[in-house]
Amino acid sequence: MKAIVFHQHGDPSVLHYTEVLEPHLRHNEVLIHVHACALNHLDLWVRHGIPGVPIPLPHIPGSDVAGVVAQVGPEVTTVHVGQKVVLSPGVTCGKCPACLSGNDNRCRDFTNLGYMVDGGCAEYVRCPEMNCMPYPENLDWAHAAAVPLVFLTAWHMLINRAQLLPGEEVLVLAAGSGVGSAAIQIAKFFGARVIATAGNDEKLAKAKQIGADEVIHHGIMPIDKEVRRLTHNRGVDVVLEHVGTATWDASVKSLAPCGRLVTCGCTTGYDAKLDLRFLFTRQLSVLGSYMGTKNELRTVLKLVAEGRLRPIVDKVWPLHDCITAHQYLEKSKHFGKIVLTVP
Ligand SMILES: [Zn+2]
Repeated sequence: MKAIVFHQHGDPSVLHYTEVLEPHLRHNEVLIHVHACALNHLDLWVRHGIPGVPIPLPHIPGSDVAGVVAQVGPEVTTVHVGQKVVLSPGVTCGKCPACLSGNDNRCRDFTNLGYMVDGGCAEYVRCPEMNCMPYPENLDWAHAAAVPLVFLTAWHMLINRAQLLPGEEVLVLAAGSGVGSAAIQIAKFFGARVIATAGNDEKLAKAKQIGADEVIHHGIMPIDKEVRRLTHNRGVDVVLEHVGTATWDASVKSLAPCGRLVTCGCTTGYDAKLDLRFLFTRQLSVLGSYMGTKNELRTVLKLVAEGRLRPIVDKVWPLHDCITAHQYLEKSKHFGKIVLTVP
């Protein structure tokens, strides 16, 4: 089969569009004929190499897959050949207390497609049967592939970790990112007031189009000062962080008393300071969040199928243009998802 493969970590030039063997199925696994695979920042980290994470080489990246079941292992009972599916990116053991309690993103064996196992930037990908999710028939392949990782991440952050309530105020950083564009919609769906940030006027206008009540140009205005102005000096109840070092201080300063800062990433760096005096006197919470559960993804996909949450796709390239797509993602010019399609 054709696939994007890298044999060593590095810049986008390490990605090769080449011929590899089709994956060999285990008894409880399915083979998916990939029609579209969306990119995430995770793809960039995996390609660069992550200290302490021995990613198996050669490696096929790609976590967000939409496609058709092409083959099923002998123990598979819940999906059939020819069925359209969206894949849950999280691969877990399915047997441990975390998995059995429905908190599968706490599984000690948790990994993502395209992370410690081969992913979907290929004609075929294998995954456990339980990763097959109902396909939202209102969407084409590219939009369906744009849903799982970012909507699941944003949902788990806002609803599970930060326990967002109707009427609360939320600051969403980097509205143009996949997580940002998903978070704006989820927060609005739950009846929150959303303040979103972005680095240019075009992105700010798009953030408003998808539901942001207020926007902040983070290149012109200090985020925390603008948040204070927009909230009559109160601050926001929840900050959705995924930017890291560049925005951390402003994020903490933007919190109202008893505010919750929830973070799922650090694209600009992982060093952060926290003034403990603010933490206890203002009764703040700092929450880590990682992916989400399969059940949460089912809920998200239901809302997507009903048109109540909408994946935002910026650009679509054919699989063989993966290098161009990685370069484009690294420039952060996008609003929404970048998707590769497999002809
Ligand atoms: Zn498990």
